[in-house]
Amino acid sequence: QCITHCPVGALTVRNDIDKVYRAMEDPSIVTVVQVAPAVRTAWAERLNIDEKDASTNLMVAALKKIGFDYVFDTNFSADLTIMEEATEFLNKFTAGPMEFPMFTSCCPGWVRFIKSQYPDLVKYLSTAKSPQQMFGTIAKTYYAKLLNINPKKIFCVSIMPCTAKKHEADIPSINDSEAPKDVDVVITTRGLEKMIRSENIKFDMLEEEAFDMPLGIGSGAGAIFGATGGVMEAALRSAYYFVTGKDPEPDAFKSVRGQKGWRESTFDIEGNTVRVAVASGLKNARRLIEALLRKEVSYDFVEIMACPGGCSGGGGQPIKDGQELAEKRAKKLYDIDKKMALRYSHENPSIIKVYDDYLGVPNSKLAHKLLHTDHEMWDMALSPRLTMVEDDFYDEY
Ligand code: SF4
Repeated sequence: QCITHCPVGALTVRNDIDKVYRAMEDPSIVTVVQVAPAVRTAWAERLNIDEKDASTNLMVAALKKIGFDYVFDTNFSADLTIMEEATEFLNKFTAGPMEFPMFTSCCPGWVRFIKSQYPDLVKYLSTAKSPQQMFGTIAKTYYAKLLNINPKKIFCVSIMPCTAKKHEADIPSINDSEAPKDVDVVITTRGLEKMIRSENIKFDMLEEEAFDMPLGIGSGAGAIFGATGGVMEAALRSAYYFVTGKDPEPDAFKSVRGQKGWRESTFDIEGNTVRVAVASGLKNARRLIEALLRKEVSYDFVEIMACPGGCSGGGGQPIKDGQELAEKRAKKLYDIDKKMALRYSHENPSIIKVYDDYLGVPNSKLAHKLLHTDHEMWDMALSPRLTMVEDDFYDEY
């Protein structure tokens, strides 16, 4: 977001597109790309494609045309994140009264914020890695085994609505993947647009294509990760199932949706009251945390996204002067969810298979080793000046 507001153009996004092309030119390298939920809502906004034709499958076809060997869906690893994070939450929730809520950890902008501004609260972050990082780990472990190749030969690219994801991919990981990084290169939605333009792709000649298998299956719950409140809603759908053994109505938790910067809900899950809150924009995050510290509010589970409206309004998305498009893009994600037969992360057949064949159960020893992280192992210096900038830009709305 700061990049889009920088008055002198001094802040620029790191351009990693050349690295992708170099990997594609190396015949010994397998290029694997994942596409985040919010990207599919915005990738064609500034391309000359009718909005109704700009489908997810047309985007997949464009990525194959660009030259990626395998095109996968971050919705798959969003489902994996839900399996791990909902299990982690229930373990904490059922262990007794929670001193402080568990915070989601999938937004690197938020993780950087809490580390620099409220270091004493870092221990309340979920240890689950973000969907981007979980995807990279699975690509270089489970999928490398399926392909029977050395993980070092997999070049993992992410298309993200986010500039902070570039930093996240560089954070040291505690996983035991044989390759040094989970994700090698992060390209923003604007970067994807640039690649499509430079390839001069003729969309009227392009046939839609589906994501590759098995890491190309995602549920509706994974899709709504791209909207503020989506992680919470997806986690509650599966937490309900883990507690009761039954699926809730898919829209049972829809009261967490919306664009208001800080909202709260209470749900009953088999006689247990679960108090949740959702905030987007760092100004709202600060207000929420200060209220928690003053004991004016009390929650069990809190989702925070740094960008107002969540990833659909992320800093790597196309910019249209004077227009805030997060809400319109979020609606597209809820439409995708509504139309899907698969609306629960725990029913995703690829997720079931990865646990059956490789990870065991959510929060297993191997799942912890590969899919969780230690937020305290990397330093984040306090930065008062940055805080002022963030507070100015991330206004409540
Ligand atoms: Fe990135 Fe913004 Fe999404 Fe956070 S909310 S993951 S900073 S796009």
